[in-house]
Amino acid sequence: MDLLFPPCCTFCDDPLPDGSVPHFLCAPCKQLLNQETLWSGKNNEICERCGWRMSPGECSRAKCPSCGSVPPFLHRVFFVGRYQDELRQAVIRAKRPAEHPLAASLGGLLAEKMIETGPSFRVDIAVPIPKFWTKRIVKGANTAEVLVEAIGRRLAVRTAPAALAARRRTRKQGLLRKSQRDANVRGSMVVRAGYDFHATHVLVVDDIMTTGATAREAARVLCKCGAAAVSLAVIARAAQE
Ligand SMILES: [Zn+2]
Ligand SMILES: [Zn+2]
Repeated sequence: MDLLFPPCCTFCDDPLPDGSVPHFLCAPCKQLLNQETLWSGKNNEICERCGWRMSPGECSRAKCPSCGSVPPFLHRVFFVGRYQDELRQAVIRAKRPAEHPLAASLGGLLAEKMIETGPSFRVDIAVPIPKFWTKRIVKGANTAEVLVEAIGRRLAVRTAPAALAARRRTRKQGLLRKSQRDANVRGSMVVRAGYDFHATHVLVVDDIMTTGATAREAARVLCKCGAAAVSLAVIARAAQE
């Protein structure tokens, strides 16, 4: 492990005290990145399946204004925090192959969030959201694959790094209107032959969530292959529109 991850903080590079700090982050960086609450405001409820901030009275699971009332739904969503400040920097840095130790650290934080929810939350297998091959050539490896590996190791959960395949290039979700986003990702990925998700709870993993349209498309194809439930883990959730 020391060969892969030198005993320094993967975010600020400070040396770490011997074996005392998990995830290869120093205590101040861990605190900085690991935001306690996703949205400010005391009385807001957070939709468990998309992270949307709902005002009191709005918080019925069946009527979330963001994920709506049309399936497929995500069973549950996990974030380290909001896509802002240091966490935003961390997401951008973690895309670079040289920063994979940082991505693995963030994966460890995500796994911890899932453990904190208690033993009743259990996934059977973790899969990354795929990137189309032209994007992989430009950017190098897929951050989501590094996250999946770290989460799988920490939770002792099986992983299937190649289960989903991107069929075509999609436009950047952040640049599209809400109404265009579902159409942009529809049919953009498939489950590769030979994978059986029958009756499993699948965790799909990505670096950032904008509207959740990509993750819901993954949920749609996985449920068609028999998955009983699909949850999502991402480093950061982009701001609410
Ligand atoms: Zn640090
Ligand atoms: Zn929602």
